[in-house]
Amino acid sequence: MTKFIFITGGVVSSLGKGIASASIGKLLESQGLKVNLIKCDPYINVDPGTMSPYQHGEVYVTEDGAEADLDLGHYERFTNAKIRAENNITTGKIYDSVIKKERRGDYLGKTVQVIPHITNEIKKKIRKVAKNNLVDVVIVEIGGTVGDIESLPFLEAIRQFRLEEGAGNTLSIHVTLVPYIKSADEVKTKPTQHSVGRMREIGIQPDILLCRCINPLSKAVKEKIALFCNVNQVDVVEAADVKSVYEVPVKFQEQDLGKKVVNKLKIKKRHKDLEKWKKRVVQRIYFPQKEAEVAVVGKYISLQDAYKSIYEALIHAGIENNAKVNIKRVDSEKIQKHGADKYLNNVDAVLIPGGFGLRGIEGKIQAAKFARENNISYLGICLGMQVAVVDFARNCCGLKKADSSEFNPKILDPVIDLMLEQEKVKNKGATMRLGAYRCKIQKGTRTYQAYKSLVIDERHRHRYEFNNKYKKIMKKNGMIFAGINPGRKLVEIIELKDHRWFIGCQFHPEFKSKPDKAHPLFKGFIKSALLKS
Ligand code: GLN
Repeated sequence: MTKFIFITGGVVSSLGKGIASASIGKLLESQGLKVNLIKCDPYINVDPGTMSPYQHGEVYVTEDGAEADLDLGHYERFTNAKIRAENNITTGKIYDSVIKKERRGDYLGKTVQVIPHITNEIKKKIRKVAKNNLVDVVIVEIGGTVGDIESLPFLEAIRQFRLEEGAGNTLSIHVTLVPYIKSADEVKTKPTQHSVGRMREIGIQPDILLCRCINPLSKAVKEKIALFCNVNQVDVVEAADVKSVYEVPVKFQEQDLGKKVVNKLKIKKRHKDLEKWKKRVVQRIYFPQKEAEVAVVGKYISLQDAYKSIYEALIHAGIENNAKVNIKRVDSEKIQKHGADKYLNNVDAVLIPGGFGLRGIEGKIQAAKFARENNISYLGICLGMQVAVVDFARNCCGLKKADSSEFNPKILDPVIDLMLEQEKVKNKGATMRLGAYRCKIQKGTRTYQAYKSLVIDERHRHRYEFNNKYKKIMKKNGMIFAGINPGRKLVEIIELKDHRWFIGCQFHPEFKSKPDKAHPLFKGFIKSALLKS
């Protein structure tokens, strides 16, 4: 029988509920249990695929091609859960199903209402994940903050769900903020009291409180929180700031959070432990032996979350190489204005992530050119591969008028062009080439050296492709087509001859990287960067 943990947040957003949920998943796995995780997002968009990175940060792509919330990335990085489209439930998706049913006449003359129709649909979607995965525990994270109007139907659904499942089968964990007020030199419990008060008004008494704080909490503060929030003092768990998110499960384990959860849910744990994670991941992050500086050239570098999985994958590759990867975030528009030399002269490697739209594109092309000409390790991801192809066409193949037709629809030499099936596409939502596709690797390439495999599967999210008409001329001038999609002959990976390490891939390897198993391309990229410094 599957048990359920509901994770809610209070006081403010950005408390790290995603990391907390993923860490609890990790703790349960470390006790030999199987888990799966769901993110409920209260916004009305069907998925974040159409949202700007300014609004939503990175769009995470699942194996089955969903454009999803970035918290799903944390779930996959911390646990072994199989995360698919069904693991991201949004208000948009819920209303979409309910309205379709209403139009079909499924509700047989009834007035369709938030309670019970919307709440029933939420519960149904949560139970479906449990049914499809047959795990011991499903962890359900509710986005937003308690008190938001739009998250109310989700909280009401949880209230009903807990009643239906019965005592001991569900758990409510509330993540809250315990701020430190500098002028008074005191930590304050009032916001937590109010937040738990809101939860209780809705009919949910939290079982465990995870208190985000700058410094560890004193016994007196924990006692106060326990008394006012109606929880046991041992169930007030502190979540103090740490240098690496990968230490969070260790900090939770030190407070026996895993055991508490298992006991409350009356689950028999099978013995396992966190030792490997501590040694293999956390220790290596805190005690690196080498350092490398990698420039990430993009247009959203001022945002914390826009390239989340890329930054994490670089950390993972550092772990694997016993090195600290210092990330230098470079705005491609600045390169466009002042030249690449100014920003990339001293770095050990250059990475250009995926992206859309014209802004800063010439800066990215200049960055790819700079890495190519100066023998600096280069990893181009999706758009990063496309700009490397444009530079190579213009500057190595004599195709001065080469460009991607995304930026220049009438260009003479569209070396990157819209995929055939995309020409008919009118709707923007969920219509790109999405999810995992097969790729065949050519032996004797750097790519093969990295993967040590002839067939791979990687996740995609794009509309444009390498234009095969230009394959011949590029090959003649030193481009290697190291990875090809077998069915459609699409170029998925390019490399350059006579370069220390220059790879561009049309897919997003960052989505499959884990702290204890770095992605082969990132691992090879950082390894080559370390040889330079
Ligand atoms: N804009 C490019 C395309 O659609 C690249 C997309 C990406 O980098 N994810 O093909």
